[in-house]
Amino acid sequence: MTVHSNPVDARYAVLFEPVRIGPKIAPNRFFAVPHATGHSPLMPNGSIGMRAMKAEGGWGTVCMQLAEIDPSSDISNLPIEKFWDEVDVRSHARLTEKIREHGSLSAIEIAHSGLRSRGLANGYPVLGPSSLPVLKPEVPAQSKAMDKSDIAALRRSYRAAVQRAKQAGYDIVYVYAAHDASVLWHFLTPAYNHRTDEYGGNFENRVRLLREVLEDAKEEAGDDIAVAIRFAVHELSGPKAILSTGEGRDVVERLAEIPDLWDVNVAGWSRDSGTSRFDPEGSQEEFTSFVKKLTSKPVVGVGRFTSADAMVSQIRRGVLDLIGGARPSIADPYLPRKIREGRIDEVRECIGCNICVASDAYSIPLRCTQNPTMSEEWRRGWHPEKIPKAADPTNVLVVGSGPAGLECALTLARAGHNVTIAEKATEAGGRVSKESRLKGLAVWSRVRDYRLYQLQQMGNVEIFLGSEISVDVACEFEPDHIFVATGSSWRNDGLGRSRYSAIPGFEGTVLTPDDILDGREVDGPVIVYDDDHYYMGNVIAEHLAARGLEVCLVCPLPSIAGWMGYTLEQPRVLTAMVDAGVRMYPNTTAVAWGGSKLTVKRSDTHEPLPSIEAKTLISVTARSPSVRLADALRLAGLSCSLIGDALAPGIIQSAVFSGHRVAREYLGTEPKDGIFKREAPTLFI
Ligand code: ADP
Ligand code: SF4
Repeated sequence: MTVHSNPVDARYAVLFEPVRIGPKIAPNRFFAVPHATGHSPLMPNGSIGMRAMKAEGGWGTVCMQLAEIDPSSDISNLPIEKFWDEVDVRSHARLTEKIREHGSLSAIEIAHSGLRSRGLANGYPVLGPSSLPVLKPEVPAQSKAMDKSDIAALRRSYRAAVQRAKQAGYDIVYVYAAHDASVLWHFLTPAYNHRTDEYGGNFENRVRLLREVLEDAKEEAGDDIAVAIRFAVHELSGPKAILSTGEGRDVVERLAEIPDLWDVNVAGWSRDSGTSRFDPEGSQEEFTSFVKKLTSKPVVGVGRFTSADAMVSQIRRGVLDLIGGARPSIADPYLPRKIREGRIDEVRECIGCNICVASDAYSIPLRCTQNPTMSEEWRRGWHPEKIPKAADPTNVLVVGSGPAGLECALTLARAGHNVTIAEKATEAGGRVSKESRLKGLAVWSRVRDYRLYQLQQMGNVEIFLGSEISVDVACEFEPDHIFVATGSSWRNDGLGRSRYSAIPGFEGTVLTPDDILDGREVDGPVIVYDDDHYYMGNVIAEHLAARGLEVCLVCPLPSIAGWMGYTLEQPRVLTAMVDAGVRMYPNTTAVAWGGSKLTVKRSDTHEPLPSIEAKTLISVTARSPSVRLADALRLAGLSCSLIGDALAPGIIQSAVFSGHRVAREYLGTEPKDGIFKREAPTLFI
């Protein structure tokens, strides 16, 4: 752990107190809880690089993600960690070593996913308390009701995994009963446990397996390693059988002193990882705050905490002992260190967008909107705080101050280049400034605020607002290179994701998200035609409905806000639409717009459907990159690079990433062929 010469600000000193966890001592109260990372066991280097960075950044405890204890736990197609036998121990031992180098504790969340398993990858039957369809309704698999020998085997597997955790050098091993994703939880809840033996029926019977496994784990752990329980005290979604006012509380009461640490949260995952659109910072407190009153053991909990004051308040008010962070530790691995060093203004606060969660669901290494270096620590050698110094500082002009422009400018300025940012609008931030004014998206302005604040502190940066750049103006700056981050504009012709041609009657008569973002007044009734399938269509619908307009949402795909399944928001978006009175027309394709009437057809059969009348049609389809300036600059022989949405319209995360990547390429530190380090499979044949 870094030795700090300056005393910590007295207001935050409590966050840096050590906390005893069983036989171990966490050096401070920052606890990077287990979270999915999109790194399978085949990507150990990337996984180690990411977690070691958190330890370097001051997280006193750093956890590995869910690790299956044996092959009968099989969440096929997700990049879940495996901790089956000796083969797996080696890379974990390297991980714990790297974490220890920074003075932090390491933890592993060993688990059996029970009814959450799918049994598709290896052919073993899914195991559960009862014979039930697996907890993924569209997957055609059903569990075997575990008999006594299965239960005994599970307990043996857990014990063996605890031994492996010790062998790998972990300081804390988890008994996992959260997120509706653990066999121990499945036995606990009467919603899934239909047994009539001593493991089913009354509470004492249903909690038996969880208690036994916890006691087994404690026995195996001895004095060598701490045992944590991760338990969802309250179900905000799903069957809602376990509530903090009922059996959620009973479990804590019953098992209070057995584990060395309580890691508590709410279920399911979509509520534990609620987005800022729906859940503010610290929103789990009302459900988890009772836990500390029932146990003398330390308690860790999450709440997308990025404010040091909010963290201190949790400790002072006796809500938590340790501040859990998954997304805050992704967005800023250096969060604890920045607080420790009095650099709170430099914290890169999570915006609660769940692009990180979506990456896991996509089985790709974690992406983060705020932290473009996430998952690049090992394979590209990127550090979230350190940028290689430019050998020969140049004068660069960045045109546009959206997420791409700001990130590019910040990266280059940190490297020592002289950076001028020119922005046509009178405020910085591009799309982020505009979109964060829509209902529910205010926190997204942190993408701008973090970068702008840093840039404003730097002597080698000049920012000109209200400055539209043309070729002539660009030449006046005499830049060595120009980064064109001019963004994109929404199309108004109906060409979208499900149709690559214009829709008759759209062009010139419809509004687009740009009109709404520019504050244009709208007459109702309104149709939002959403052929984008992410947030823009439904946010605009909700935004306008909140202003009292009659709104309907027409979507050519069978599922509304389809991509938001990956960010875990889709069910809540649909509820928000219903609550706002927005009528929804899925599987409905626009054929033509006649100025007051949208002619529509069924998307799959192409059968005509009754047309929909409205005063305003807002077309949310695809975007056109704004490349006019870049084309003109090139024609004039100026050296320039396109970045962000001007290069390829995408999500905010990809604009930030693009700005960062192209800036690093300019520094000359990236491989010329674009090929970064890859994990190498072992050949056995
Ligand atoms: P990205 O997501 O790629 O960062 P944005 O659309 O958020 O893109 O931001 C693009 C920014 O570029 C907008 O703020 C826009 O006002 C600005 N811009 C576009 N053209 C010019 C120009 N010619 N001169 C200066 N600024 C420009
Ligand atoms: Fe936070 Fe979004 Fe980054 Fe996830 S992707 S850590 S939610 S900023």
